[in-house]
Amino acid sequence: MIRRDYYDVLGVERSAHMSEIKKAYRQMALKYHPDRNTEDKEAEERFKEASEAYEVLSDPQKRELYDRYGHQGLAGQGFQGFTDVSDVFSSFGSLFEEFFGGGFTGFGGATGRRRSRTAAGRDVGHDVTITFRESASGTKKEVSLTKEGACDTCHGNGQAPGSKTIPCLACAGTGQVTQRQGFFVLQTTCPHCRGEGQKIEKPCPDCRGGGRVRRTRKLTVSIPAGIEDGMRLCLRHEGEEGYHGGPAGDLYVMVHVEPDDFFERRDDDVVCRATISFPQATLGATITVPTFEGDAQVRIPPGTQHGDEVRLKGKGFPNVRNGHCGDEVIQFVVVTPKKLSKRQRELMEQLLRESN
Ligand SMILES: [Zn+2]
Ligand SMILES: [Zn+2]
Repeated sequence: MIRRDYYDVLGVERSAHMSEIKKAYRQMALKYHPDRNTEDKEAEERFKEASEAYEVLSDPQKRELYDRYGHQGLAGQGFQGFTDVSDVFSSFGSLFEEFFGGGFTGFGGATGRRRSRTAAGRDVGHDVTITFRESASGTKKEVSLTKEGACDTCHGNGQAPGSKTIPCLACAGTGQVTQRQGFFVLQTTCPHCRGEGQKIEKPCPDCRGGGRVRRTRKLTVSIPAGIEDGMRLCLRHEGEEGYHGGPAGDLYVMVHVEPDDFFERRDDDVVCRATISFPQATLGATITVPTFEGDAQVRIPPGTQHGDEVRLKGKGFPNVRNGHCGDEVIQFVVVTPKKLSKRQRELMEQLLRESN
């Protein structure tokens, strides 16, 4: 990087007095302060450059060295300038207090405004409904989310392209105004800039100066196999965008599972009721039942009672946490015939006589 002449940087004569140099630097610092030029790399460079110039020209020894030998002379003495903006604040923290009052000392300070403006985006909630079978197999659902984020036109700073932030005149850039009430002097937040110390010259037309816009985006949510009705999935950083470089919020997806006509969930087991006839229950039989993986044959043991159950191992829901599979439970419902043919009635009567 080519170093510019320090006097040019601050825009002062070579014969300038200390008071002029300080005044010039104050103006530069006000203009290029990182708090008012968020994420503006050029402003950051200008800020560092001006600070470096001030550091040299405000120090009689360094200034003499520079006047005689230029940048080379300083480099020979190990002078490096500022590599990071935070170094400026550690060097000139008290000077900034003097320049702008408290609350403008910048990075790292308890009153650093830039730090306090960085904030995480809000969390977002969304509901998704899936079928019973999808809850067993897992599925992917495309959701449409309307969430707030930084405006593309102004990158979240609320300024119309090409316009600048200007120091608030009402409070001289301090964000605080002094009010006199009789004997009392009150310091209050400046109502014109709401304590920001700066104002937007021309608000961004797309977000009306707010820096945020609502956008609808599609997102595919993976729903794991075995999920239960009412479970909530957390998708980290899929919520609303953060403010001024802050992290995005999270997205919480509440999953609703539609009931099924045939199946019912009991922990990780899936339960279904199979209707069988009195002779099937008595003599035993083989019937076909549906499972998540297609039809399966189930043997009804002879002498099955109403409500008896048979288990199909591992045909239930995978546990959403450990992947261990539940069973399919077939519950037998023995139906008593309401209408009988003549022949059936004869056989029943015969059975009754035999039973006695
Ligand atoms: Zn905007
Ligand atoms: Zn103000």
